[in-house]
Amino acid sequence: VNPSPVPDAAERPSSELAADLAAIVGPDHVLTEPSVIAGYETDWTGRFQGTALLVVRPRSAEEVGAVLRACGARGGGVVPQGGNTGLVGGATPYGHVVLSTTRLDELGPVDEVVAEVEVGAGATLEAVQAHVAPNALTTGVDIAARGSATIGGMVATDAGGTRTVRHGTMRSQLVGIEAVLADGRLVRHDPRADADAGGVHLPSLLAGSEGTLGIVTRVRLRLVPRWRFRAVALVAFEDLASACAAIPRLRRSLPDLEAIEFVDQAGLALVSAHAGMAAPFRAAPAASVLVETAADRPVLDELVAALDGLPGLHDAVAADDGPDRTRLWSYRERVTEAIAAVGVPHKLDVGLPPATIPAFVAALGPAVVAAGPEARLVVFGHLAAGNLHVNVLGVDPASEQVDDVILQLVLAHGGSIGAEHGIGRAKARWLSRARSPGELAVQVAIKRALDPGGLLNPGVLDPGVAPAHDHRPGPDGR
Ligand SMILES: Cc1cc2nc3c(=O)[nH]c(=O)nc-3n(C[C@H](O)[C@H](O)[C@H](O)COP(=O)(O)OP(=O)(O)OC[C@H]3O[C@@H](n4cnc5c(N)ncnc54)[C@H](O)[C@@H]3O)c2cc1C
Repeated sequence: VNPSPVPDAAERPSSELAADLAAIVGPDHVLTEPSVIAGYETDWTGRFQGTALLVVRPRSAEEVGAVLRACGARGGGVVPQGGNTGLVGGATPYGHVVLSTTRLDELGPVDEVVAEVEVGAGATLEAVQAHVAPNALTTGVDIAARGSATIGGMVATDAGGTRTVRHGTMRSQLVGIEAVLADGRLVRHDPRADADAGGVHLPSLLAGSEGTLGIVTRVRLRLVPRWRFRAVALVAFEDLASACAAIPRLRRSLPDLEAIEFVDQAGLALVSAHAGMAAPFRAAPAASVLVETAADRPVLDELVAALDGLPGLHDAVAADDGPDRTRLWSYRERVTEAIAAVGVPHKLDVGLPPATIPAFVAALGPAVVAAGPEARLVVFGHLAAGNLHVNVLGVDPASEQVDDVILQLVLAHGGSIGAEHGIGRAKARWLSRARSPGELAVQVAIKRALDPGGLLNPGVLDPGVAPAHDHRPGPDGR
């Protein structure tokens, strides 16, 4: 999607800009060689393929500021990029400079008294989890892309993941933040105490701003206990309605509930084939739901008791911590990877009011069939949060018709067009239909105030992008 022509030699980075940036970060950290920068130009799914003017990799907030000042002086756009695991084309450059944050990866000391840690924005989630594990702590947000996704990217997208039912999204984990604005100014919110309210809350402003308001350079994260006992069950329901009806019951009966995740029949079959794992159930269920609970006391019996007698439950496999738990989680966590192994998907991360989920998913089937004879639907997601990932394989990645039909269905069912992956480029042109005019006006005013020249992530989260079926970026990447 959005292919932009590879710039010819004349359009390749001005050697002046490359020289300016090399003077700031060192020549080894300004990348211009096409084969070296190729990995920064395409998104994780392969659907968004752009071109980078160059890639610059600063090591400190001061260097980030100097890089932005240099880029601003020469014009053009700057695309912040962390682990490049985003799924809405938000980190893909279209003739822009890529500012890679991966060298901002310091891990500060763990503050055990308040259960917090300060880390660089380029640290991966997995590195932070390993760093705090000896203190019996972990992060409130966990996602399958933990090995590559960075804390800065997760803040910028307000990432959700499998534990939101207990701990909320990335926004709720933020105690403090440091960021660099488009003009190179450093801003910090560094509260001296947890009780610290009043005024604009900078972490909330930047969470979910997808690199359009500032570049996050450091974050102070709230941590959560790393529970000693976990129990997980993969549950087969006869239909999605029964699975949804079970959610309030499970919430009531499991005080330490950590996850309620959903995989449809197609998703379960894909993972089993891709990972070479036996199907977990004899008969393929319409809805498989993974339920996890975690505490500082054994919780397996409690989980099994909570499942007992749930209407529509056909079968269940349960395990406590260890390899069996990992195997059960694989049926859910490896769906994204199994889909990518088959082809380039149309991937729509959407939110639905829980009561409308069964009707919405039922309506997806006919909509996808209409997209073409090869179209295949896979749906999975964070069921307790009403967050579904709708994937359509077998449809031309450049076509946007099926995306439009699905987003239209989402709005018709009272849902939201972006749940946890962000809006990026993929859904920018849908913003004006999904947000009130007042909200959009505030968003535009904030962008203009903080980035009047439109330097940061042009075209991302931008309600002004071209209307349906015509949003290929122009020369300025919008
Ligand atoms: C297998 C797999 C599973 C996933 N599971 C989940 C999931 O459960 N929940 C979920 O929410 N997401 C999930 N994702 C999506 C993705 O991992 C998240 O969106 C993640 O937050 C992106 O982090 P990143 O460092 O890769 O960011 P990138 O992809 O590099 O960038 C994402 C956005 O953030 C901006 N950005 C990056 N770093 C900064 C910074 N320091 N300052 C300002 N802006 C910045 C970029 O410009 C872009 O707009 C999954 C992805 C994969 C591949």
